[in-house]
Amino acid sequence: MIQLKTPAEVEKMRAAGLVVAAALAAVQAAVRPGVTPRELDALAESEIRSRGAVPSFLHYVAGVGYVPPGAGHNSFPATICASVNEEIVHGIPRDRRLAEGDVVSLDCGAILDGWHGDAAVTLPVGTVEDAAARLLEVGEGALWAGIAAMQVGNRLRDIGAAIERHVRRHSDYGIVREYGGHGIGTEMHQDPYVLNYRAGGRGPKLVPGVVLAIEPMITMGRPDTVLGDDGWTVATADRSLAAHFEHTVAVTSAGPWVLTAFDGGAAPLGSLGVPTPATA
Ligand code: MG
Ligand code: MG
Repeated sequence: MIQLKTPAEVEKMRAAGLVVAAALAAVQAAVRPGVTPRELDALAESEIRSRGAVPSFLHYVAGVGYVPPGAGHNSFPATICASVNEEIVHGIPRDRRLAEGDVVSLDCGAILDGWHGDAAVTLPVGTVEDAAARLLEVGEGALWAGIAAMQVGNRLRDIGAAIERHVRRHSDYGIVREYGGHGIGTEMHQDPYVLNYRAGGRGPKLVPGVVLAIEPMITMGRPDTVLGDDGWTVATADRSLAAHFEHTVAVTSAGPWVLTAFDGGAAPLGSLGVPTPATA
């Protein structure tokens, strides 16, 4: 069942999305060699709480919901996921300092008035090798290609097809297959699951009120993943670099509205020639 949001509910999700955008912007500004992911996590939490919102990853158990520490579940212990280099997603922010040349995926979610926002960006730490910069460029491009496909009348499968087409056109990178995007609304993870590659079947049509978190994950080597001993951190099996980008996006009759981007997606979608209600 896909939860369709009314325009008023999408406005509430926009407010939650702007909290996420602000938290990620604050964290992004603090990324430099020497900072620790745990410091970035504290910054994100204070940004979220100062806006009257609640971190949505903290104490989350996939498939279960929110479970306090000590209750026998391995709930996520932080506000952000910080995934460094070969880590793809769900990295736990720790005290190891980021170093010049690292890449770090920062994923952040917040709940405001019961509505969720979810977004991620992979950033260079200081100056990175050209090959790493290229990986990030293709990953971000794949995100926007997927978002651009969120048109009324298209189908869900068109999103994954657009993501895969972008990656294949610009690289020979791997596309992670074990994880993908998701519906989002009054829960962080809702139906439908959003593949990051082309698949068979027609799938549901995109209609106004569908809100999805689009989140391609690509790898410089093979796309196979391994789960770390902490039960959370997902990394590439071949230890190759990974990149992950995410936005929460509403389908509207005027085009995709990127709820977790300050400009609603106006600039990146505009450069692709894609109309959006965010264009003022
Ligand atoms: Mg996320
Ligand atoms: Mg997500």
